Amino acid sequence: MNITDVDDKTIHASQKEGTSLKEFTRKYEQAFFEDIKALNILPADKYPMATEYIKEMVAITKSLIKKGFAYKGEDGSIYYNIRKFKDYGKLANIDVAKLKAGASGRVKKDEYTKEDVQDFALWKAHNKEDGNVFWETSVGRGRPGWHIECSAMSIKNLGKTFDIHCGGIDLIFPHHQNEIAQSEGFTGKPFVKYWLHNEWLLVNGQKMSKSLGNFFTLRDVLSKGYSPVAVRYLLLSTHYRQQLNFTFDGINAAKASIDRLNELIRKLQDINSSSKKNSSIKKEIETAAKAFEKAMDDDLNISEALAAVFELVKSINSHIDSGTIGKKSAAATIDFLKKMDGVLGVMDFSKEEKLPSDIMKLIHERERLRKEKKFAEADRIRARLQEKGIRIDDTPEGVRWKKA
Ligand SMILES: [Zn+2]
Repeated sequence: MNITDVDDKTIHASQKEGTSLKEFTRKYEQAFFEDIKALNILPADKYPMATEYIKEMVAITKSLIKKGFAYKGEDGSIYYNIRKFKDYGKLANIDVAKLKAGASGRVKKDEYTKEDVQDFALWKAHNKEDGNVFWETSVGRGRPGWHIECSAMSIKNLGKTFDIHCGGIDLIFPHHQNEIAQSEGFTGKPFVKYWLHNEWLLVNGQKMSKSLGNFFTLRDVLSKGYSPVAVRYLLLSTHYRQQLNFTFDGINAAKASIDRLNELIRKLQDINSSSKKNSSIKKEIETAAKAFEKAMDDDLNISEALAAVFELVKSINSHIDSGTIGKKSAAATIDFLKKMDGVLGVMDFSKEEKLPSDIMKLIHERERLRKEKKFAEADRIRARLQEKGIRIDDTPEGVRWKKA
């Protein structure tokens, strides 16, 4: 996972703020790492930063000039000649040959559109607007274009060809198309085997934007009291190639799903009776595990994978209600859920705190009395527990206690 810590946007914004580029990007980098940690996202093996790969970017740029893919413009910047790359436009479905002759010029901006297909800058010669952001290199004083940064970092860390490149669909053109042109022009090898592009995020059915007042960061959402795992569940429960519509109802529904999983885990942890043989549970678990894996292997079909988990949850709950599940099957079900949670990362397997045995005795004694409908005596025990700082709640799933 690379960090492009120098580009048009960050240079412009840091200057507006009057801070150095490093100081400016540092802030966002730290916030980003805090957010992915809050969302329980596994860290990447490496986080290369663009500003540490200038040497590699210059080397690729020089090689592309030598091979005839790039040229120096009058302003001293170095541009990629898109007509020299046979498959330019293929990833984004643009037919470059059909573009009117002369329509193609040069663009120094990092971001442009399909309507604006032009030669793009690999290296940007220094100008006033860049202030003190520049490097003295053998291709002159200046800074890299945004696209070359990703090619340099990925080739150095992953090799000439690698399997999977991810990104938002908004990056297909020009960014990923340009990465391909640069990398394949430089190495002569296929750059990436599979591109996984995720769809837009919508908020209340609209594109998230500050002007619409529907712009939320993760921090905004968490400060409203929502839990990070609920946000995680909401984000992962929509297929990556589908638009995800973020709503607060959606987070509430996500929380309810997680509660359902955690309630089952609690119940399973409480099962103590042994020797209840139920061979069907073992089969059900195997079926669910297979269905989960098959769905995830099919381009990460998360809806089907979750359906497999919840089908099992429903069935195990009914086994618990009818008393047809023993200790062993309960443990097997917990193992299954732990495995699935290696992917989902939303469940809570921590056991409830144990109470001293004399207090547990009182709780059990009270339960016995209630079963015998000796409610007055049961209430006296409840009062005694209350004095010891233990609050008792009778729920449909049985008795629950809390330290008051
Ligand atoms: Zn990139």
